[in-house]
Amino acid sequence: MKPRFNQRIQFSLAYVLVATLVFLLLQSWLFAPRTVEIPMSKFLELLRADKVERVALTEREIRGVARPDALPTGPSGAGDRLRQWLGPGGDVRDFTVTRIPGIDEQRLVAELEQHRVEFSGKIESTFLRDLFFGWIIPLGVMVAIWMFLMRRVGGGPTQALSFGRSKHKIFDRKELKTTFADVAGVDEAKAELVEIVDFLTNPKKYQRLGGRIPKGVLLVGQPGTGKTLLARAVAGEADVPFFTLSGSEFVEMFVGVGAARVRDLFEQAKDKAPCIVFIDELDAIGKSRAGATGFVGGHDEREQTLNQLLAEMDGFDSSKGVILMAATNRPEVLDQALLRPGRFDRQIVVDKPDVRGREAILRLHARAVVLAPDVDLGVIAARTPGFAGADLANIVNEAALLAARKEKNAVGMADFEEAIDRLVAGLEKKSRVLSEKERDIVAHHEMGHALVATSVAHADPVHKVTIIPRGVAALGMTYQLPTEDRFLLTRAELDDRLAVLLGGRVAEELVYGEVSTGAHNDLERATELARLMVTKYGMSERVGLATYGERVPLFLKGTGVGGERDFSEATARAIDEEVRAMLDRTHDRVRGILTTKKSVLVAAAQELKRTETLEGERLRSALAGESPTEEIRR
Ligand code: ADP
Ligand code: MG
Ligand code: ZN
Repeated sequence: MKPRFNQRIQFSLAYVLVATLVFLLLQSWLFAPRTVEIPMSKFLELLRADKVERVALTEREIRGVARPDALPTGPSGAGDRLRQWLGPGGDVRDFTVTRIPGIDEQRLVAELEQHRVEFSGKIESTFLRDLFFGWIIPLGVMVAIWMFLMRRVGGGPTQALSFGRSKHKIFDRKELKTTFADVAGVDEAKAELVEIVDFLTNPKKYQRLGGRIPKGVLLVGQPGTGKTLLARAVAGEADVPFFTLSGSEFVEMFVGVGAARVRDLFEQAKDKAPCIVFIDELDAIGKSRAGATGFVGGHDEREQTLNQLLAEMDGFDSSKGVILMAATNRPEVLDQALLRPGRFDRQIVVDKPDVRGREAILRLHARAVVLAPDVDLGVIAARTPGFAGADLANIVNEAALLAARKEKNAVGMADFEEAIDRLVAGLEKKSRVLSEKERDIVAHHEMGHALVATSVAHADPVHKVTIIPRGVAALGMTYQLPTEDRFLLTRAELDDRLAVLLGGRVAEELVYGEVSTGAHNDLERATELARLMVTKYGMSERVGLATYGERVPLFLKGTGVGGERDFSEATARAIDEEVRAMLDRTHDRVRGILTTKKSVLVAAAQELKRTETLEGERLRSALAGESPTEEIRR
């Protein structure tokens, strides 16, 4: 990308230089002096030597024409003296003399008469001439250069005049060769998108019973997980036109251009319905208006663009068959208004692939390269935890290049190893890849949560545990599925919830005898929950049934502006101590649970480390302490 961009700049820069040069030459030729300017003394000398044919007297100067014989003819004589005044080529007879202010007109006229010089007076307007030479010609030249450049840079001269036009690319079905077969390892996202394709191809089927087709689908996932790829696959699968535009392309130097582009894009999309409009990198325009923009201003342009987008989304009717898709890797910065029902009402998470997903992606990209028989893609997948699809595609390509450099006939395992090492070095800088030790800790931590959750009576069942890092903070995740929506929770349930939150931390203590910073978020949530139990739910004998909190004046409610504390220092201390005691009690309880199940914990953590994601039957058997059967092991 980059070199091409630079080349283009250099390219047009050269044209600007050449054009300027041509322009300057042209100008100096146009304005080349056809007359010589001579001083008054020389003029009088010429006049007295009878060398002046005629003159015209204007307000400021005398314009004259010398007699032909004033031109230098011979090798010497008067001609030589005059030569320097009447042009080096000796063929310019026209001259001008600047008049001396307040010169005696009478005497000049008398002298002109005396030497029989034809003379006239002239009050001359140079306006037209100045206009022509000073403005029209230079402007014409500049416009010509500009038009020339525009054509060079691509697009006709009209393009620069149409800032408001959308720069989207429209792909016809024939150009779109991407299909779902080109995407691997993100099966859940794929399954959801298959449904979207069905909406587009069979709208009637879904509207038959009065259902409404979703307007917007937001693909959320870290960079390189295949969001753009998936969107293109959707368009390739559905038999409809596909408009694609990157969020950053909406935002231009000029205020109002982005909004005009949005309008234009939707207008064209409505014409072509059914179709898909895909806005990549939505965060470029969809950033929260509240936060960053704040007081600084200067973001009017983006805000206008976003408002226009919201308005258009409200305005179009998805039953006409326009589906808006967007992708972002930073959903947390998006403006809440975008995520409201009726706008991007579907969100599809595109996760980093687990070990099997990675193998599938590797297999997909390896189709194009010649593999040596020793290559085991399963092993490579196991060696690349935390890699996204783009990283894996990169590894295959890098390995192929390395093998080619060594003049091999096929890409071997050693080439893959080398490619991985290179990429890991790059990725570690971006701190996306965990070390072996860190993965070990995270696996035990997450299994700790999961094991506690299955051991206590009232916790929600665990349905998935993963150590695939996502986002900046979360290194692993234990997903619990609530069996029902709960508005009322009993004391026992809250106690168990606390226990599950502490499970990760206690597992680390038990296995390593030390703790890491990984439990920070758990502890925060546990403390908050314990504090609520003490101060709001009346679940502590010592503090009692009264609730405590901040007294916030009614008009400040919900603004986040705090009020004053409504309890004494003594109560504050009692609350703190009770929270502490509650956490300590829970800690001991969890320690008890996990100590008796330590062997299960360790075995399950090993299994989790191997597969990275555990769910369903495999998760159940790991938590039950059954050693996985060979068949499940693949
Ligand atoms: P994103 O838009 O999420 O940042 P892209 O869709 O641009 O990622 O992915 C970049 C490239 O990485 C793709 O063109 C493809 O070659 C490869 N890739 C990423 N994810 C996958 C996947 N799940 N399956 C196959 N290839 C993938
Ligand atoms: Mg992308
Ligand atoms: Zn945790």
